[in-house]
Amino acid sequence: MTRLGVLGWPVAHSRSPAMHNAALAALGLHGWRYQRLPVPPALFEQTVRALQPAGFLGANVTIPHKQAALALAGESTQAAREIGAANTLTFAPDGTITAENTDAPGLIAVLGQILDSPTRLRALVLGAGGSARAAVWALREAGASEVCVWNRTPERAQELAREFGVRALAAPAAADLLVNCTSVGLNFEGGLERSASDNEALNQLGMTFDQVGEYPYVVDLVYRSQPTPLLAAARAHGARTVDGLEVLVAQGALSLELWTGRTAPLEVMRRAAREADFTADQPDTATT
Ligand code: NAP
Repeated sequence: MTRLGVLGWPVAHSRSPAMHNAALAALGLHGWRYQRLPVPPALFEQTVRALQPAGFLGANVTIPHKQAALALAGESTQAAREIGAANTLTFAPDGTITAENTDAPGLIAVLGQILDSPTRLRALVLGAGGSARAAVWALREAGASEVCVWNRTPERAQELAREFGVRALAAPAAADLLVNCTSVGLNFEGGLERSASDNEALNQLGMTFDQVGEYPYVVDLVYRSQPTPLLAAARAHGARTVDGLEVLVAQGALSLELWTGRTAPLEVMRRAAREADFTADQPDTATT
């Protein structure tokens, strides 16, 4: 048996096992299994080092372990090092652990669903956590003409902006592309109708419903069954949008290709991720 998994804490609600096991079956890799690996931070390193001897070929990494995953790996890609986080680990037979980041290329891949090219775009990234770092790095590398960042805690946005050579904003400003990398929307029973709660969620992102109309392209990394307040508002304004499940599928597909050397069956993964029923619309606390 060849084993894969997702390391997180918590990870109970992750859709990755459903998505990857469907993909493995579609590829005819019947001796392969992908499982949840709930691991608290204090046990992270010793657990990861025990995975290869236990038959694991690789693992995805989600909250809160992405930085720790990079730190313990003997080898890492330049992208993972520059972003400062890894979401994919591969275990070689000699015990070497390699860290990669597929969140960044995953974001660029999903942009292809709504845009011809991210070059010459003005982009605004909301948030300053791990996924914002990957998004800012990816957009800058993909040739966006300007990348700005806004965060609830301005000092964190300023620090990120300094590190990546982009601009921190005191308030969200109009741009071509808006990428939400905050967790706002996660704990919200979203819907297509506007409500006080929609507006409250948008306010947490520093904007009003009308201001959302200033972005013709909107990506929300938060994933859940119903549209997030941001995506609902963006769609009401006629924006072209991508939801967090598409981002999940894109980063997962790239990880699967690294492990198997096979082309990921995107449609199978998409269907499995969307159909994965995790207690009927409970907010998903896992990112991967
Ligand atoms: P993180 O490192 O914990 O960062 C969280 C960010 O959200 C911070 O910038 C934080 O701002 C902001 N935030 C949290 N609560 C807020 C609130 N009430 N109002 C305004 N801002 C708030 O998390 P992450 O790893 O970057 O992940 C962020 C989100 O992206 C999560 O929801 C995660 O599920 C999702 N995600 C999805 C995928 C995918 O494949 N679809 C991949 C990665 C992440 P402060 O600095 O002010 O605290």
